[in-house]
Amino acid sequence: MGWLPHVIMGFSRATREELARIIPERSCCQLAELAGLAFVDGTMTPQGYDVTVGQAAAARTVYLLFKQLYQPYMEIKVRHRARFSKHSIYVIRIPQQPSLEMICTNLQSVQSRYAEGDWGRDCCRRAFLRGVYLGRGSLTNPRKTYHLEIVIDSFQQAAIIQGCMETFDLTCGVIKRKNHVALYLKDGEQIAKLLTLLGGHTALLRLESVRVAKGMRNQVNRLVNCETANMDKTLEAAMRQIENIRLIEEKAGLESLPKELKEIAMIRLEYPYASLKELGQSLDPPLSKSGVNHRFRKLEVFAEELRERQGDRV
Ligand SMILES: [Zn+2]
Repeated sequence: MGWLPHVIMGFSRATREELARIIPERSCCQLAELAGLAFVDGTMTPQGYDVTVGQAAAARTVYLLFKQLYQPYMEIKVRHRARFSKHSIYVIRIPQQPSLEMICTNLQSVQSRYAEGDWGRDCCRRAFLRGVYLGRGSLTNPRKTYHLEIVIDSFQQAAIIQGCMETFDLTCGVIKRKNHVALYLKDGEQIAKLLTLLGGHTALLRLESVRVAKGMRNQVNRLVNCETANMDKTLEAAMRQIENIRLIEEKAGLESLPKELKEIAMIRLEYPYASLKELGQSLDPPLSKSGVNHRFRKLEVFAEELRERQGDRV
């Protein structure tokens, strides 16, 4: 049993990351996906509109969708969920600005159409569900039966998501948890169907434990990689760097790093979205972009070793 939790977490995370790499082509679907994420994770605050997610992959999607649709001015913050927790919280904020009202109206219009059972196009509904899943979904395999779950805040939200699922003949259960409501699919076929709808091809292959020939697997990878083309590589790299730093901080402590690596780690945490060039310039003495990159590669090696050690232990 000891090895199981590791495998389970890996699977759920891999699924989410695969889904997060899909950025829909059409703007109708982009809006629907963002509306899905905002539906479960968005709030209006005095400072602006916040979408708060628990995963780097989901944060990246929120950022990219806002950027594709509206090019707003955005602020992104990374926080610890709690002291000693390895999890971070990512807040994508659209601060007060002229386009804010229009953005909010657009997001709400999707949500209220769905609330009234006006389901519109297939492509958009799929994107909406992907957004919801990215925000709140998880997939586990406790005791050999797969379990897909979406944890949300209210029965009202649950009813809308359930209704949307039903348009694809997916029947999910609803259960009350302490402060939350959970929607779940238990049936393997239904889970497979949802993953297909959402575009989780690799997850699907893993789910069905299909032993595919190498050629076929490569084909799937190529398909997935095609959809990666739109991704913002800089942001992705920054997220990865932060994950590495958080891991090192938790498992070994930043003190364990050589001075120049600790320095770059601290600066990255302070400026999560600065470019490598900007980070280099903020050092004293300044460091070139390739010098900064070199340090992050060393951090990556360090983090990978920690991950491997962790893998061995469980
Ligand atoms: Zn669409």
